[in-house]
Amino acid sequence: MAILGCLAPAPGGRRVTISRALMSITYPSRLMLVSAMNSCHGGYVGDPQHQCFCTPIMIQHYRSHISGPLLDRKTL
Ligand SMILES: [Zn+2]
Repeated sequence: MAILGCLAPAPGGRRVTISRALMSITYPSRLMLVSAMNSCHGGYVGDPQHQCFCTPIMIQHYRSHISGPLLDRKTL
């Protein structure tokens, strides 16, 4: 999962750039990554029809499993 946080679509599309501290490299790509995750451990936070019993700390801990850069790239 850590490598996914380093991926960025290159301008112009169909390429992906992997950036690390000392270098970045661009490869051709036709990949479309589709993923999903629950909003909390139980999956009910923000659901108007179900009650979420997670505490804010539990939600923060659950979401901390996904890196910030990867979470920034997800469309919620
Ligand atoms: Zn919950």
